[in-house]
Amino acid sequence: MAYRHILLAVDFSEHSERVIERAKDLAQQDRAELSVIHVVEYLPVVDSSFGPTVPLDVDLTEQMIEAARQRLDGVAERLAIPKNRRWVQVGSPKTEIIRIAKAQNADLIVLGSHGRHGIALMLGSTASSVIHHAECDVLAVRLKG
Ligand code: AMP
Repeated sequence: MAYRHILLAVDFSEHSERVIERAKDLAQQDRAELSVIHVVEYLPVVDSSFGPTVPLDVDLTEQMIEAARQRLDGVAERLAIPKNRRWVQVGSPKTEIIRIAKAQNADLIVLGSHGRHGIALMLGSTASSVIHHAECDVLAVRLKG
């Protein structure tokens, strides 16, 4: 059975090129639509002098979103992915990848076996959660190192 809509999750880590190429090949092979997502992680700033966590500055979040959008546009242009299938979300990568995949009726998610969260757990935290909780198929591209 051929896939019809593939969602590619990109974290811009040093290995993401392999994940991008794999999703591109699969989409060509199956003549599937390709969508791409990057999630800007919301990082609260901890400053002990203020006691509890202080939310990240709103302008900084906007800058991070804009920078992510530009980088994602670069990837999407190369893959000829139209603007309405490029997703820059803010929040938890695993939650947003699963949510967008479901909302857009993706039948395959392609991500790396690990990324910026390292290989300490062999299968990174995002990959592992998406595999366990997504409602569609998930391809975790094996990344070395
Ligand atoms: P991790 O499990 O967090 O090491 O990451 C595994 C894979 O999940 C990465 O290779 C990416 O494909 C995807 N991923 C991780 N973080 C993000 C993110 N912030 N936005 C989009 N995809 C991500």
